[in-house]
Amino acid sequence: MRAMLLERTAPAEESPLILRDVATPTPGPGEIRVRVHACGLCHTDLHTVEGDLPPHKRPVIPGHQIVGVIDALGPGVTARKEGDRVGIPWLHSTDGTCEFCQRGLENLCPSARFTGYDTDGGYAEYTIVPADFCYPIPAAFDDAHAAPLLCAGIIGYRSYRLATIRPGENLGLYGFGASAHLVIQLARHQNCNVFVFTRSESHRGHARELGAAWTGRAEDTPPEPLHAAIIFAPAGSLVREALRVLRKAGTLALAGITMSQIPALDYALLYEERVVRSIANATRQDAREFLQLASEVPLQTETQVFDLAEANQALQKLKKSEIRGAGVLRVLMP
Ligand SMILES: [Zn+2]
Ligand SMILES: [Zn+2]
Repeated sequence: MRAMLLERTAPAEESPLILRDVATPTPGPGEIRVRVHACGLCHTDLHTVEGDLPPHKRPVIPGHQIVGVIDALGPGVTARKEGDRVGIPWLHSTDGTCEFCQRGLENLCPSARFTGYDTDGGYAEYTIVPADFCYPIPAAFDDAHAAPLLCAGIIGYRSYRLATIRPGENLGLYGFGASAHLVIQLARHQNCNVFVFTRSESHRGHARELGAAWTGRAEDTPPEPLHAAIIFAPAGSLVREALRVLRKAGTLALAGITMSQIPALDYALLYEERVVRSIANATRQDAREFLQLASEVPLQTETQVFDLAEANQALQKLKKSEIRGAGVLRVLMP
């Protein structure tokens, strides 16, 4: 099969992914093989390719927003069948037995493995996943438009949920990429007022089209203070900016897998029971709830499609915030 393989981490500008012909994988017990139709691009792919995340598997095929059709079942799989259209997200597997798994926090399982990082992912024509860690894709979404739901969407949903915003309240979003353009729709669906902070004028325009009550830069002060905010951009300085405009008892959720250093804060910015929390991965429950909600709203995903072989160029555009909505690789899309 064709795959974009990462043999050595390097800046995206150096095009570290190499198109190779590799052996098509065979599903083991409890696993399925998916013929990949589309795979979304995520900032975590960029962190994997550039080595911001320590390499776990080498070489590795990145990609963890995979949409495709099951084309082979491993021994013992009964809950899925060949021909089912499914999605595969970042969480590839957990042990199911540790303290965190038992507490409903399998996203924090110390034995968790992640798609396109610990295992080969979706920048390839076929991939393997345990049958319990894939999800039926609602019919409302075609392959390319479903792909960004699988990480941008699911992580966005967990961030939104843990930011504990209630209908009618004010939500701030810092950064307006693939995740934020879905969260704004969830928030508008629940009648929240959404305030979007981003440097990019084109992203500000996009946010207004999707119903933002106000847009500006992180240094600006919105017309009303926020009940909750989510930071999607990986800049630690945004923590101070967001706390500056957060109401008492408000929650600030940090959605990224990495962030530059957070500058020293005056305690007054945090006092009055403001909460700062990170979001790490997501559970299977998040995935199921979110996909259901996504088709109820229904969420509109805006995508920019690239060919599999253009993965390097697509990641370069992602790095420069030049993708409107979400980037998606077309693999074996019918
Ligand atoms: Zn566990
Ligand atoms: Zn991701």
